[in-house]
Amino acid sequence: MKLKLKKKYLWISFTILILACNYEGKPPILTEKLDQKSKQPLNIILLIGDGMGLSQISSSFYFNDKLPNFARFKTIGLINVIAANSKITDSAAGATSFACGIKTFNGAIGVDMSKKPVENIVELLSQENYQTGLIATSSITHATPASFYAHVVSRDWEEEIADQMATSPIDFFAGGGLKFFQNREDGKNILDLLKDNGFDIHTDVIDQKIDSSKRHGFLLGQEEMLKMIEGRGDFLEKSAQKALSYFEDNRAPFFLMVEGSQIDWAGHDNEANYLITELLDFDKMVGFVLDYAEEEGNTLVIVTADHETGGFTLSGEVTGQNSEGEDEHNYNIIVPTFSTTGHSAALIPVLAFGPQSSLFSGFYQNTDIYHKIRKALAQ
Ligand code: MG
Ligand code: ZN
Repeated sequence: MKLKLKKKYLWISFTILILACNYEGKPPILTEKLDQKSKQPLNIILLIGDGMGLSQISSSFYFNDKLPNFARFKTIGLINVIAANSKITDSAAGATSFACGIKTFNGAIGVDMSKKPVENIVELLSQENYQTGLIATSSITHATPASFYAHVVSRDWEEEIADQMATSPIDFFAGGGLKFFQNREDGKNILDLLKDNGFDIHTDVIDQKIDSSKRHGFLLGQEEMLKMIEGRGDFLEKSAQKALSYFEDNRAPFFLMVEGSQIDWAGHDNEANYLITELLDFDKMVGFVLDYAEEEGNTLVIVTADHETGGFTLSGEVTGQNSEGEDEHNYNIIVPTFSTTGHSAALIPVLAFGPQSSLFSGFYQNTDIYHKIRKALAQ
C-alpha cells in the first residue's frame, strides 16, 4: 500500500514538474494610499477558495511561471475554522460562519444550532440598498454560495435551496446548477419564478450584453461547471468582470462573493494537477479583482477559505532509503502530497486589501470575517 502511494506521488510530481518554475522576482506590492486605508469602504468583495489552505496557496508560488497575485497582499491574518459541533468543519458550516457570523453544525446552511434561520450579510446589506452578487464554479445551490442566500438544515436540499434563490435579494449570480431549477422531480420550474421576480436568466455564455436595470442569473451547467483541465476557460474571471461592470452601471454600493469551488474537490480526489490548475484560475480572478480595487479605491477585498482539504503538503521527493531504513529526500524537487481525502483542521490564511483592510490582520475565528466586514462598513 505504502509503495503504491509513493508511486502515485512520483507520477504526480512528474506531471507537475513540467509546469514547475520557482519565480524569484520582486513582488508587485499593491499601491494603497494612507488616506484610503483608514476610510470606510463602499464595496465588499469576498473571495473564497474552497479547501484552500496555506500549502494550496504555497503551490501557486512554486508551480507557476510568474509570482501569484496572492503575493500582492500586505495584510495577512489567520482564522480558526472549527465548527460548533465538530473540530473539523465542512463547507456549509464554514460558509455560514462567513455569511451569518455564527458557528453552527456541519451541513447547516444559514441556520443556527437550534435550526433557526439567521440573517445573512446579503439580507442585511440589501436592506441598506446594496447590490449583491454570487459566483461559483460549483452549482450556485452548492453549500458555499447557498449559505449567502438560503436557510436550510441540510446542504443536500439543493432544490429547496434553488427555491430560496427566487425569493432572495440577490441581484446577480453565475455558476452551474440548472437542473435544480428546471426539470425537477417535483415538477416545479423555478426559472419562471426567477423571471417573475425580475431576473433575466442566461443558460448560454457569460460573455454577452446584459440589461443593467434587471437582475441576472447565469446558469451555465446542469450541475457543476467544468474543471479547468476539462476546458472551463476564463469563466471565473469573466463572471467577476461581468458582475463588477453590472454593479458599476447601477451606481450603488455592492457585496460580491466569488468562490473557487473546485479547489476543494481536487483535494478530496487527491489530484495535484486538478488542484493546482483550479488554484491558479482562482489566483487569476484575484488579480483581476485587485486591479479593479486598486484603481477604484473604495473596495475592500478579502481572500480566504472555509477550511483546508486533503491535508495537502509540499514535500521533498523521496529518492531512496538509507542503511537504517529511513527515507532520503531530494529537497530540490517538490512533490505535492496528500494525507487525507477529507478536510483538515489547519488554520486558514486571510488576505485583505483596501479601506479598513488592517482589521483583518492577526489571529481570530471564521465568524469574525462577518463581524469585521460589518465593522469596516460601520454597520
Ligand atoms: Mg464550496
Ligand atoms: Zn470539501
